Amino acid sequence: MPKTSKNLRILAVFPHPDDTAFFAAGTLARWVDQGHHVTSICVTSGNLGTLRPDQTARQVADVREKEMRAANDVLGIQDTVTLGCPDGGFLDAGELRRELIGIVRKYRPDRLLALDPWLRYEVHPDHEMVGRTAAEAAAFGAFPLLHPEQLTDGKTPHSPSEVWFMGILAHAPNCYVDISTTIERKIASAMEFEGTLAILAGMFAGDIDPSNVSSEQQKVLAAHGDSWLRAMAAKIGEKVNLPAAEAFYVRKCLPGHFDNMEQALSEMLGLPPQAPTVM
Ligand SMILES: [Zn+2]
Repeated sequence: MPKTSKNLRILAVFPHPDDTAFFAAGTLARWVDQGHHVTSICVTSGNLGTLRPDQTARQVADVREKEMRAANDVLGIQDTVTLGCPDGGFLDAGELRRELIGIVRKYRPDRLLALDPWLRYEVHPDHEMVGRTAAEAAAFGAFPLLHPEQLTDGKTPHSPSEVWFMGILAHAPNCYVDISTTIERKIASAMEFEGTLAILAGMFAGDIDPSNVSSEQQKVLAAHGDSWLRAMAAKIGEKVNLPAAEAFYVRKCLPGHFDNMEQALSEMLGLPPQAPTVM
């Protein structure tokens, strides 16, 4: 299903600086290696991204942006853009959709990558809203009567041909990407996010207090993060006989919709699923 032509323009749209690190960084690095141009659009400043009480939101935002830019440099991502919206559930859906439609029309991606907003039990409002509005921007950027004020200076309507949903997915993956050549860069880029590793301390090392992590404990968390990322890549890869992979749910984009009618009908009738694409 996904296009294989060369030199695609790819837009990754996500709410927080660390959102692509765990689920799509290996794939982003592969796309760069394949000659595609990747623009990374981070919607919020990530200014709530710590459990430490001794930092201000401004300090956290500055650290998170530096971490993201360093991580994107490791992956070779060519453009990193921050929209600077507040973190933690303060986004306005209509305003964000308008802004993202403008961004789709400006960057004119062939492929848009976003978090899957339909994941059950997703409690983070930014994940749900940015995933959803990014998908809507992809599907609606082609309509010339929608936000026509954006269509000045030669700008024309545009929709990407594909939307790739990343993260823990609400639907079985229909696309697996081999990241065996990029997993080291993925891990190196994820290690830039020290605050994220601290927030995940409860998952990795219950005896470490995430609000007060020493430099020695930070190394312990990094080692846990490294093992976890390798194990996840191996487990996903096992499904399609690859040593390391990332999984996506990919849909072709039609004006106002995705091309999922045939698949949805097949699922409604209980027919066997199509084999996933492996890239
Ligand atoms: Zn996030």
